[in-house]
Amino acid sequence: MKTVIGLEIHVQLLTETKAFCSCSANVFEKAPNTMICPVCTGQPGALPTVNKMMIEYAVRTALALNCEIHRFSRFDRKNYFYPDLPKGYQITQYFYPIATNGCLELDVGKERKKVRIRRLHIEEDAGKLMHEGDAITKAHHTLVDMNRCGVPLIEIVTEPDLTSPREARRFLEKLRSILRYLRVSSGDMEKGALRCDANISVVDEKGFSSNRVEVKNMNSFKFVEKALQFEQNRIIQALKSGSNVEKETRGWDLTSKTTVSMRGKEEESDYRYFPEPDIPPVVISDEYIEKIKESLPELPDQKKDRFTRDYGIPELDAEVLTSTRELADFYEECVKIKPKPKEISNWIMTELLREMKNSESEAVPISPRHLVELIELVEAGSVSIKMAKEMFPEIFATKKMPRQIVEERGLKQVNDKDVIEKIIKQAMEQNPKAVRQYRSGKKGVLGYFVGAVMKQTQGMANPQLVNEIARKLLEG
Ligand SMILES: [Zn+2]
Repeated sequence: MKTVIGLEIHVQLLTETKAFCSCSANVFEKAPNTMICPVCTGQPGALPTVNKMMIEYAVRTALALNCEIHRFSRFDRKNYFYPDLPKGYQITQYFYPIATNGCLELDVGKERKKVRIRRLHIEEDAGKLMHEGDAITKAHHTLVDMNRCGVPLIEIVTEPDLTSPREARRFLEKLRSILRYLRVSSGDMEKGALRCDANISVVDEKGFSSNRVEVKNMNSFKFVEKALQFEQNRIIQALKSGSNVEKETRGWDLTSKTTVSMRGKEEESDYRYFPEPDIPPVVISDEYIEKIKESLPELPDQKKDRFTRDYGIPELDAEVLTSTRELADFYEECVKIKPKPKEISNWIMTELLREMKNSESEAVPISPRHLVELIELVEAGSVSIKMAKEMFPEIFATKKMPRQIVEERGLKQVNDKDVIEKIIKQAMEQNPKAVRQYRSGKKGVLGYFVGAVMKQTQGMANPQLVNEIARKLLEG
């Protein structure tokens, strides 16, 4: 059995204004119907004008996805009637999209797999319906919020090159990482800035292909994977029992953790596409494209390759460190101050990322100086590695410098030879048997004396020093 998955992704662009008017495009959680004007609500006589930034962001994304950029593209009207679409049509690019034939590379095992991108086009978003129920009167009604009308989107359509739900998820994560590197979208699936529809079918051993099922309503990476897994199993079951699944659209249902039928066997809708008469074609020059190409930041794959090459860190480290631009910059700043690439990577991958796990923002809340100072305290023997790790959450939460925390908490490691010697001598007097054992060759007994010192100093003695002194006294 072979699974075949293709994705259609809508990406909300981070432009200041909407696609065809000067309303702010930042409408998330704004009071309903306060971010609108005659253009985006389709009043008679209102004329759209193209947002240049939107074109630039689309070209930027298309370049990063290795697409062919078209010097000539055009907007079309997609006609349909729905209460969240005041104009009765959506402005999109149907006949002449701005970009086609791209690809995104995914690391699958040891291979770098190419997922082809069929097209990338620009379009506007529609409004939002809110279904409200009144608990007292039992009245049900639907409200419409037009704020989102005209917010600029790009739609990215892949070829059916993905072969598992896991791969589909990885593709989306990679795409989001690129969008964020480019600063063209927040990529927040939970907030609807990145929306994904998937087409899935399964081909059996004899080459018979199941019907294709479309899956919607997956608003997190996890749900994309889960919904597709569920659907994959459902299709395989059907094929095994000699039947087939319906060609239909299904939605991921959070409560039942299954997909449920949304629309049955759908006729190909007739959207009566035709060129948008109010907007001239988009014509861009080679120089324009070249300029944008030059302004592109280093992308995750390039950065990852450079990190493994220049810092000699393992690929896994490089992959994690380059997952966001913020983290990669933080890492490079640290290495610049303190050229210990692997050690710094270890601290970031374990302690820092653990603390950042629940934070919404990708910004690193501490400075490179914080981490470097902590590493230096360990190097100087002022604190043990264990203690440094214990201090980390406090540094993260309070932004206090490590030295200050050491002083405040009286954490300074015991490096005093006399103190350590005294404790070991005491232990030797109290347990002469252990001393004899050590001297007759049972070197493992050393641990007993080290433990005694650690107990007395509450773990604050410098372990290296303790070992050294204990050995010297026992052997002497
Ligand atoms: Zn407007």
